[in-house]
Order: sequence, then C-alpha cells, then structure tokens
Amino acid sequence: MSFLPTRSRRTSLLSAGELDRARVLDTLVNNLDGMAYRCRNDASWRMIFVSQGCLILTGYQPTELVENTTITWEDITHPEERAYVRAHIHAAVLGGQRFSVQYRIVTKSGHLKWVVERGIAVPDEMGEVVIEGFIEDVTNQREMLEALEQAELRYRNIFEHASEGIFQTTPDGRYLAANPALARIYGYASPATLIASLDDIGRQLYVRPSQRERFRQLMEQQGEVLNFESEIYRQDGARIWISENAHIVRDTAGETLYYEGTVQDISERRHYQEQLERQANHDMLTGLPNRILLGDRVEQGIARAARLGYYLTVVFIDLDNFKFINDSLGHGAGDKLLREIADRLKHCVRTSDTVARLGGDEFVLLLNDHFRASTVMSQLQRVLTEIARPVLLSGREFHIGASLGVALYPADGEDSASLLKHADVAMYAAKNRGRNNFQFFTSALNREADERLNLETALRLAIEHDEFEVHYQPKFDHRRRIVGMEALARWFHPEYGAVSPDRFIPIAEETGLILPLTTAILRRAFAAAHHWNRQRTTPLRMAVNLSPRLFLSGDIVAHVAELLDEAQLPAAQVELEITETVFMGDGDRAITTLDRFKDLGVNLAMDDFGTGYSSLSYLRRFPLDIIKIDRSLVTGIEHEEEVAMIARAVISLGQSLRKTVVAEGVENQAQFDFLRYQGCHEFQGYLLSRPLSQEALTRLLDAG
Ligand code: C2E
Ligand code: MG
Ligand code: MG
Repeated sequence: MSFLPTRSRRTSLLSAGELDRARVLDTLVNNLDGMAYRCRNDASWRMIFVSQGCLILTGYQPTELVENTTITWEDITHPEERAYVRAHIHAAVLGGQRFSVQYRIVTKSGHLKWVVERGIAVPDEMGEVVIEGFIEDVTNQREMLEALEQAELRYRNIFEHASEGIFQTTPDGRYLAANPALARIYGYASPATLIASLDDIGRQLYVRPSQRERFRQLMEQQGEVLNFESEIYRQDGARIWISENAHIVRDTAGETLYYEGTVQDISERRHYQEQLERQANHDMLTGLPNRILLGDRVEQGIARAARLGYYLTVVFIDLDNFKFINDSLGHGAGDKLLREIADRLKHCVRTSDTVARLGGDEFVLLLNDHFRASTVMSQLQRVLTEIARPVLLSGREFHIGASLGVALYPADGEDSASLLKHADVAMYAAKNRGRNNFQFFTSALNREADERLNLETALRLAIEHDEFEVHYQPKFDHRRRIVGMEALARWFHPEYGAVSPDRFIPIAEETGLILPLTTAILRRAFAAAHHWNRQRTTPLRMAVNLSPRLFLSGDIVAHVAELLDEAQLPAAQVELEITETVFMGDGDRAITTLDRFKDLGVNLAMDDFGTGYSSLSYLRRFPLDIIKIDRSLVTGIEHEEEVAMIARAVISLGQSLRKTVVAEGVENQAQFDFLRYQGCHEFQGYLLSRPLSQEALTRLLDAG
C-alpha cells in the first residue's frame, strides 16, 4: 500500500477513473482505528504521511507530526522503549522483513498507551527507502490480558497454596492434576510424583477398593459427591481418613471430561469420634464394653443364636469379697482388682464372646455358639477357677470368689432385658448357695450341673486312682475267626454304678481329663495285645478309640509312640479309631497328624462312618485303612430297604477305595449274612461277642 501525501496533489495528478479508487482507499485509511503512516528511516522517524487516526491515537493533529512540525515519533515513543523499537525495526529493515513491535507511547495529554506497530521498509517513488505501516492502540487488550493473567495467577495461588488437596482425575482412576496439598496429604514428595505413582486409584489408594466404585457410581448418578469419607493408604503405607467433595466436568456435548474435587484429611476428627464412641460404649476403668454396648451385643447374639439354633448364654458375675477389699484397702486396690478380674475373664472366653462391666463389681459374660448346656458348664467351671486364683494386692494375697447366674436364650428369655434380669435372679441364688458357684435360671439345668460337677470330681479321682477297666470286643472275619478286638473303657462307680463311656467321655473331653484317661486305657490295651500276640503266628490287631480333642493339643503322635515303645508292641498291630469330627476343625492340621501316625506304622480306622457329615473327598484325601460302618446303618438292614441300600453303597464305596470295611453292631444272623454277602470284611457285634473282660477274652482265645 502506498499513501499519498495530500488530497489536493492527488486530485490534480490522477485521472477520473483512478480518483474513485483513491477516495475509497483514503476513506478506508482515515477511518481505520489506528494510524497508517509513511516515515523516513531516520533518527526521528520523520513522518511523510499519517492518517487521521493520528489524532485519536496520540492527541496530535496529523499536521503536527508530519515533517516533525511540532513533535517527532521518536519523542512520542516512550523513552524507555525507544532503543528497543529502533533495534527491532532496524533488524527487520536489514533483513527485508515485515516487523511487528509492541511498545508504549506518550500522548499529547501525557497518557501512556500500548501500541502495536506493524510495517515494512519499501522504496518510495524516488527509490529512497521509507517505512510504511500501521500503529494501533492495544491498551485495552493488554489490560484484559494482564487482568486475565492476574486472575490465572490468583487461581494458581489458590491451587498451589490451598490447605485442601485439589485434584482432577479421569473416571478410570488416573490423575490429571494434583496440588501440593494433595501430595502432602497422601505423603508424596510432589504433585508430579503423586501423579506418576498412582495410575489405578481404586486399587492403590483406597483401603477398600470398592470405595472407588461407589464414588464413581455416585458421580454418574448425581454428577457430584459431597463429604465422601474413605480410608486410604498414604505412600508410606499408613492409613488415614479423608473426606472428598467432587463433581464431573463435562464438555459442551455433555460427555464426561474428568472429575474435579477437593480432599480433606479428617483422620483427627475420625480418631476423636472413635474415641468418643469408645467412651460412650466402654467402661473407662477396665476398657470392657459397658451396659450400652452389651445391650447391642445381646441383640446380635440372639439373632445369631436364633439363626443357627445355638444357645446364647448370659452370665451375671458378682465378686464375692469386693466390698470388703474396697473398704479396707482403698479404691486404688479395688480398681486394681477389677482390672485383674477383667483380664482373667477375657482369657476365659473366645473372641466372638463378650465380657462387659456394668459398674461396681458386676460383670457380664455373653457366650455364643454353645449347642449343649454341658459345654457351658465346663466353661463356667473354668471361669470360677480363674477368678479363684489368688490376687496380689498391697503386697498380700487375696482369694476372691464369684457368684455366677446363668440365663440361656431361648429358654430363659427372648430379649436382652429378660435374659439379663433372669441371669441376675440366678446370680442371687448362687450367692445364697454359699458363693463361688454358678446357678442356672432353669432349675433342671442346676440339677444337671450338680450331677455333672459330681461326676467330674469322681472322674478326676477315678483317673488318679486308676479305677478304669478296659473291656475288649472281638472282631471277626467272614468265617467267624477272631482277627482283632476293640478296647472299650469301662467305669464302675460305687455310688453311681456303671457309667457309660457315652456319658463320661464328653466330660473328660471338656475338662481336659481325656489325655490322662486315654493314656491309662492305651497302656492297658497295649499290654494286653502284647500278651495275646506273644505266641501267635498271625497277630491280632488291637483297636483303640482316640478322641478328636486329642488332635488339637500337644503331640499325640509322639505320645502314642512312647506308649507303644513302653509296651514293646509293634505299631502294625494297632488300629486307631477316629471319628469324622476330627476334620471339622483344623482339617490341614488333622491331615498332618494322620500322616505322621501312618509314618509311625499304625493303622487308621474311620469309626461310626455314615453318621457324620460323611464326605467322599476326605475318604480319598486321608490315609485311612479301615472304615467302620456305624451301628445305625446295620440296625434294620435285614428288613428296611432304605437302610440296606445305604449300607450296600457304603460297602461298595469302601471296596472301591480299597479300604477294609468293618460292620459294627451286628446283632443277628440275618444282618451278618447280608453284610457278608455284600462283601464286608470284618464284623463286630453282640451276635458274635459282647465286650469281654481281659480274662474272659483270654479264655475265649485259648478255647480257639
Ligand atoms: P464305638 O467306638 O463305636 O464303640 C462301639 C460301641 O458299640 C461300644 O459301646 C460297644 O459296646 C457297642 N456295641 C458293640 N456291639 C454292639 C451291638 O451289637 N449292639 C449294640 N447295641 N451295641 C454294641 P460303648 O462301650 O458304650 O462305647 C460307646 C462309645 O464310647 C464308643 O463307640 C466310643 O466312641 C466311646 N469310647 C469307648 N471307650 C473309649 C475310649 O477308651 N476312648 C475314647 N476316646 N472313646 C471311647
Ligand atoms: Mg470305636
Ligand atoms: Mg463305632
């Protein structure tokens, strides 16, 4: 573009056709928001032409500027920027390039304005280099940009310095942005390391990964989440609680772009809350649950007992000598005693049970999952023994007794209040009875408990005095030849008469007397076997019963090995009878024990097969040699098709697994014939022989 110096000269020089074009150009140039110019490339930028825009831009008339009449462009240029502008334009002129430079000018009235000057050096009509260009006011844009930058800076400051964590994440669990506070809360050195380390938020961050899923669901359903509390892992593995507020950021089409939100560390508040809850639900002195929490636990216990068909046992405990100690030794000693008793009680119960303190010297036990009153009795006996152990207070030993009152759900009450009331009533009965004992609310149970207690005492004495007998029931092959015998414990008590093993074995199991009892019986049985097998070419096998309880504690294998050694009896002449209950507890441990018994060389028999939860899988997995079909599957075999069917199936199962199949409880010829026909290997029962004393069996064997 080339600008013409004045209107008059132009009119005189141009033809009519060109005139219109020039005027359009002129109008255009003079109406532009800004100043078009042509100037010399000299020290003052002497203007040859400036457009009308000059006035608005600078406050000077074009005539004041052209040919430096009153002012030069160099003067108008802000003094601080003159050198910079000149250098910029100079470089462009040398390179034959367009230029664009931004700087400040000083207007006639002394105001500063930001301008952009764009131009190019061209030769004029005479061939002299001039600069043509356009200068416009960009003060407003500059200010807007600056304001924007300011705003951006302010937001960035908030982002960088906020005490809350701020994040942007993708819905699939990666970070797009994180601020320093978030990095600090999560324990990372910087936002960058946080973003780089976490690429699966759900699994790496949340303690419960399902939390992230819930977060996403809420986001999708509501577009936001408020005060969403979760437990998370910090980088060092420590757990903290956070609260999140977040929303979805969408594009104009409504598609989710990312999630954006804030995070607060609320661990302290959670901690405080938990502490408050603890204080509200626990007794401060002992740390045990208090009456409020106990109420909850009873309700839960009732629901569970109702579902599983177990008893729920509520035991009210009142210490017998507490008041005396508190009054005579002072509260310090009283507190110590209560804490000591709380500890002992905790050790008497399982983790699923509850020990609570109601205040004073009143404690309550809540026992779950008993399905017999007899096991409750054993446990309460242990509680009494524990409490009765001497307590050291102020340098002296004291003996504290307790009175226990017992109520059982469902018989003694169907809700928390009536169970506690009845346990309390029973506790007073215990106190009246002379302390240090327990009483059931139901009197029939008290009679049973008494009997049991008497029996237990008698059992202890009988073991001490070795008053047990062992009888032997022979086992026969299909041709009625004796191949072995089973040792069965016999106990005759002067007062109670003959007590059946079905009655005393469970008591022995529950009171821990089973080991000494079994030891006594094995000793006798092994000695008898040694005696009978001395002169036999085919030895008889001695079967003994092993309680499943023995599998749980101590080293029963080593113990049996010792007894075999002591009797000088080869392990191969012994069969150990176990029941399926062995596998109901710690199955793996049971297998290990059985494997070690096999290594010892004894034979293993599954007793009472068909009565338990008989499962094929353990028959395959466990190193069993013998299956003893339970009496209940033999009784009625000769006339009940269903029983016969089951027995047939069990026998063929045993055969296909290559086990020796033994039938027990064979009482008549028809049963014997049926079982023999089905392929049973051995037979035991009253038809063939009752259990006999050692002398009687010796006579039978001698008779051939
Ligand atoms: P078990 O091991 O299944 O023993 C067989 C039981 O059936 C014995 O009862 C035996 O006398 C009885 N019996 C045998 N043949 C017949 C029959 O033809 N008809 C009937 N009606 N009964 C028959 P017992 O001696 O009363 O023993 C009962 C249970 O006590 C035994 O069942 C066993 O589980 C346990 N037991 C006995 N002695 C011991 C022992 O020393 N240790 C352990 N842990 N348990 C023992
Ligand atoms: Mg047996
Ligand atoms: Mg049996």
